[in-house]
Amino acid sequence: MDAAKTKQYYDALGIENVCQCDYCRNYVKEIKGTYPLLTKHLQTMGIDIEKPFETMPIEPDPDGNIEYIGTQYVVMGDPSDFQETDISGMHIGIADSHPMTDIQEEHFVLEISEIILKWTIQQYDQKGNES
Ligand SMILES: [Zn+2]
Repeated sequence: MDAAKTKQYYDALGIENVCQCDYCRNYVKEIKGTYPLLTKHLQTMGIDIEKPFETMPIEPDPDGNIEYIGTQYVVMGDPSDFQETDISGMHIGIADSHPMTDIQEEHFVLEISEIILKWTIQQYDQKGNES
């Protein structure tokens, strides 16, 4: 993997390229404060934790938490020297499957599982109606 190239990729990636659905907005809002070690670890790889490629959330629970069974990040370079790791109870590995990235250069996609965050984007009430 190539941390310098990965950092360039994230620096060039505008916030408008990040999905704006409630799940992704909630993720971006909460992730850094909840998981500082994970944030730091991804930083050393050149990854901006607030610019996920894909998140896989399940519905928020009644206690106000939401679980993301996986979150994916693009990494530039060759995956052969990437080491799978566990940080703060989460696993960082290479994604088995992911949407098309549209990136021409050599790259791969990481997957972090599982991430639990507070659900603080309150756009919908319990019945699913817009409030
Ligand atoms: Zn989304």
